[in-house]
Amino acid sequence: METTIAITGAGIAGLATAIGLRKLGYRPVIFEAAPAIKPLGAGLTLAANALKSLEKIGIREQTVAAGQMIDELKILDGKGKLVSHVHKPGNPDLDILAIHRADLHQVLLDQLDPGSLCLGQQVTGVKNTGRKAILEFANGSEFAADRVLAADGIHSPIRRSLLPDAQPRYAGYTCWRAISEAGDLEVKAATETWSPEGRFGIVPLTGNRIYWFAVVNAPEQDPDRKNWTVHSVLGHFSRFHDPIPAVIRRTPTDQLIHSDICDLSPLPRYRFDRVLLMGDAAHATTPNMGQGACQALQDAAVLTDILEKNADWDAAFVQFEKRRLSRANQVVNTSRMLGRIAQMQHPVLTGIRNNLFRMMPDSAGQKRMKTLLSTDF
Ligand SMILES: Cc1cc2nc3c(=O)[nH]c(=O)nc-3n(C[C@H](O)[C@H](O)[C@H](O)COP(=O)(O)OP(=O)(O)OC[C@H]3O[C@@H](n4cnc5c(N)ncnc54)[C@H](O)[C@@H]3O)c2cc1C
Repeated sequence: METTIAITGAGIAGLATAIGLRKLGYRPVIFEAAPAIKPLGAGLTLAANALKSLEKIGIREQTVAAGQMIDELKILDGKGKLVSHVHKPGNPDLDILAIHRADLHQVLLDQLDPGSLCLGQQVTGVKNTGRKAILEFANGSEFAADRVLAADGIHSPIRRSLLPDAQPRYAGYTCWRAISEAGDLEVKAATETWSPEGRFGIVPLTGNRIYWFAVVNAPEQDPDRKNWTVHSVLGHFSRFHDPIPAVIRRTPTDQLIHSDICDLSPLPRYRFDRVLLMGDAAHATTPNMGQGACQALQDAAVLTDILEKNADWDAAFVQFEKRRLSRANQVVNTSRMLGRIAQMQHPVLTGIRNNLFRMMPDSAGQKRMKTLLSTDF
């Protein structure tokens, strides 16, 4: 008899998992709360572990074609002086793809079977009955599945029903993101500028576009920061080095996306009888390492890899937790620590930090990144 698999959430984790499972002959059904999939969001960087994961589920080529490989990633100080070279050309273990979120989503959606995505289906919880996992929906309906893969994001109602104490935690900083037209600006490398006044990232995208992000320390849900416009962001970052002010100025006013940065304190487990937590529902991380979506893709690839070798789902859930829990938790912890370092405000301490980074050989940081980005499939 066919195994009935329900995936909650049509985000990166849910869609990539559906693609991996489809490759193995399963026909998962995806339940998504949104009534329609809209091309939202700004940019994303996908590191080497994500690229290897995309390869595992068979869609690396299409994804790379929709994005742009980044030759260099540099950390700069407030004056634009080099602090650290995170990635240089010619190191495939540290490859980075920059892609518009909407483009990545389109690549994933294009792979789905017609009828496998059910929109406007808001899941409220799940009941494990022993023989089945019963998904409950806001409209009062239910769906009985042999397995539920909960990929419904950082606020996952499924996780809340299983682990009520695991709540998102605010990281202490807030972020604006947007896409602007590069025009005649020559932006070849991705850069992140660390200054006591905040952090600003620039990532070149396809179509002569630039994805940028700006991060400042702020109280949680600060009403003042919530109302910031492109003009307010420009006011704050106007004294930053070139081309930062010009990049902000080229942003259409309706493009700005604002979010307080949160993560999830590392969970002790991902599997609950017939239910498995995946993606941000399991290990939402701060974006300081650009790893949230990468980890979501790695979840999809690892589950695919395990089931490809042995179709025993009970054993697969055990294996998945074994292979993913400590690695994802390590990313959550490292990313949170990196955020604290990057968001330092004291001018003397930031000076010391920058000098320490400069003294460290690039190869040391790159070696650590290589280990963290290695995959086991
Ligand atoms: C500022 C910022 C920058 C980032 N930059 C990067 C980056 O450069 N690189 C990177 O790898 N990661 C980055 N991330 C992280 C990345 O966006 C997330 O880790 C990734 O989107 C997680 O995917 P997901 O599918 O697990 O969750 P989500 O993308 O949150 O998808 C969850 C899905 O579930 C649906 N859903 C929610 N509730 C329900 C419900 N009740 N019923 C049914 N469906 C439901 C949602 O509508 C959504 O479609 C960034 C995050 C932020 C905030």
